[in-house]
Amino acid sequence: RHVMRRAFNVVPHTYDVDHEARVRLMGHAGKVVWLTGLPGSGKSTIADAAVRALHALGVHTYVLDGDNVRTGLNKDLGFTAEDRAENVRRVAEVGKLMRDSGLVVFVALVSPYRADRESAAGLFGPDEFLEVYIDTPVEVCAERDPKGLYAKAAAGNLPNMTGMGQAYEVPEHPDVVLHGTGDLDVGRHADAEHRAIAGGAAAGLFGPEPGVVGGGEGALERLDVVPAVVD
Ligand code: ADP
Repeated sequence: RHVMRRAFNVVPHTYDVDHEARVRLMGHAGKVVWLTGLPGSGKSTIADAAVRALHALGVHTYVLDGDNVRTGLNKDLGFTAEDRAENVRRVAEVGKLMRDSGLVVFVALVSPYRADRESAAGLFGPDEFLEVYIDTPVEVCAERDPKGLYAKAAAGNLPNMTGMGQAYEVPEHPDVVLHGTGDLDVGRHADAEHRAIAGGAAAGLFGPEPGVVGGGEGALERLDVVPAVVD
């Protein structure tokens, strides 16, 4: 399965309206912000907060969420290592098209294997792609278990579950590390906001250099952005 056919007799057409032209129309460049982490680590939640804030700022966004993509484009794929590689490859290629269109694309995908993530990153230039590691301990993820998957795996019904039967390979040099352990209820606004700003900073939208933003503390001060961007 998934044997790549060679594209013989294919000559790409170069279009006059290119990324540069779209950047002028959009008001910002396209980016891919790739969130990787264990199931339940907070990828979708954080992407949601980041995109809400960016949207409110007039940034054109989209989220490629693992589970959502698996209901359509990737519904033929399962959770073996081979299928996960193909899942990541397709999402990366779609992300590349969307980025070229000028969108700031958040990818929320477990993407457990380093080699697959490196292949994905390899499709992009250095300013086009950011790897964000959502660093949440597996015990916390299993406790949250928003989709009941850890319980199923513990009962032996999900052999390919990442963090249980299958390994998660922690990123060695992520562009950004976010800790998905803040209390969302108590600090909902501040927390979501910090994450959003961190996401925006990661996407290079607010100026200063992308870097390690552990939990987003201090990001607001450093970035000089008004607080009321979420909601
Ligand atoms: P993933 O997309 O990584 O599988 P989800 O975002 O779907 O994870 O689920 C994470 C769960 O953890 C959600 O129920 C969310 O409300 C909860 N949560 C609690 N604290 C945080 C936090 N600080 N950051 C992100 N998610 C959190």
